[in-house]
Amino acid sequence: MSEKLSFVNPTANSPWGTYLSQVDRVVPYLGPLARWVETLKRPKRALIVDVPIEMDDGTIAHFEGYRVQHNMSRGPGKGGVRFHPDVTLEEVMALSAWMTIKTAAVNLPYGGAKGGIRVDPKKLSLQELEKITRRYTSEIGIIIGPHTDIPAPDVNTNGQIMAWMMDTYSMNVGGTATGVVTGKPLHLGGSLGRVKATGRGVFVTGREAARRLGMDLRGARIAVQGFGNVGSVAAELFAEAGAKIVAVQDHTGTIVNTNGLDLSKLIPIANKEGVIAFKGGDVVPNEAFWDTACDILIPAALEGQITAERAQKTTAKLVLEGANGPTVSSADDILAERGVLVVPDVICNAGGVTVSYFEWVQDFSSFFWDEDEINVRLDRIMMNALNQIWDTADKHKITLRTATYAVACERILMARQERGLYP
Ligand code: NAD
Repeated sequence: MSEKLSFVNPTANSPWGTYLSQVDRVVPYLGPLARWVETLKRPKRALIVDVPIEMDDGTIAHFEGYRVQHNMSRGPGKGGVRFHPDVTLEEVMALSAWMTIKTAAVNLPYGGAKGGIRVDPKKLSLQELEKITRRYTSEIGIIIGPHTDIPAPDVNTNGQIMAWMMDTYSMNVGGTATGVVTGKPLHLGGSLGRVKATGRGVFVTGREAARRLGMDLRGARIAVQGFGNVGSVAAELFAEAGAKIVAVQDHTGTIVNTNGLDLSKLIPIANKEGVIAFKGGDVVPNEAFWDTACDILIPAALEGQITAERAQKTTAKLVLEGANGPTVSSADDILAERGVLVVPDVICNAGGVTVSYFEWVQDFSSFFWDEDEINVRLDRIMMNALNQIWDTADKHKITLRTATYAVACERILMARQERGLYP
């Protein structure tokens, strides 16, 4: 944050700053709705909570947690919870804002929210992880709920953590409230297809973008940064379509194999020990990941990874943003100038929130769909959204990112205008 804490003064190169400049770029395409644009530059509500827990060694540790509800003009807040040592309020603000844009871009009846705790969960025991999750849930319990704000998994959170969140909220309200979180295990009202949904959405939008570029996926070389839920599932689906995964990077390092990495062997090892424990590729310095010869680049780790310098050196012709906010604004311009097509995060990784929506709907109706139905509906929603965004980009001769913002912001601001300002 800048010296004077304020929503509108972002720290240089921060994710919130990136988001604000993305909103500025869309203003010329908003027509009369532009008078409402300031509403997108401020979160509706930001809660900071202290999360104290007793550690296994008997000491008391305090962690800082956040829940930000960026915009609820179109429906309840929706967005994941991140456990990571670098989490800050400003980061959570940006992530919540990208959820607002994303849910509107795919036309789900939600606003945008996000949460996080500044903690390295890899250093916690299972018991400590459960305590921190439950205390955090209880603290943010005053603003979340099935009809107000529905958390989900994000970096370092998973179905087990969602189960603890659901249980804690349920205990506090005195009933079983399955609809308070999505990404739950199947027997607790989770949905088939949720775990793979974000990676699948990256694949569906990437396949369509490749088709429009005239790029054959068979033999296409792909580099993936971040090999967790999103990166590994997307990589698997592209490999099934005939592509070669030539480079993978995670928090342990980078491996490269120009003949293609064997994912059936790599994934189980990466899940346990990290990618550099895999022997079927060469370990290279992390910076070498960005100039590995490839056709498609999939950032699926954290924000701010594609810097101006890395945008200059990538050989990719297509960037699929599995992660949220992986490209800084200056890099976006360089990629556009170099003719590299970017499918932006706010559409590319919207598969997860789309199946979260299906989960929420199934929980309310207590009627569950089979996986084929989930995947068919997911593909249809993603393709409809992408085609509409593409038409907008062609019409105004703008990037897919600005076109996505144009479509999404129009929906959000129209809802804002129709609701009017209270009081
Ligand atoms: P995850 O925790 O399953 O995986 C994160 C991956 O990133 C891991 O492989 C980790 O090793 C790697 N990583 C962490 N720090 C790194 C670093 N400094 N350099 C390189 N790699 C690093 O998380 P995920 O759910 O796959 O989320 C990844 C991204 O996708 C995030 O930006 C998240 O916000 C976004 N996203 C996730 C979902 C979802 O449904 N899970 C939905 C939309 C967007």
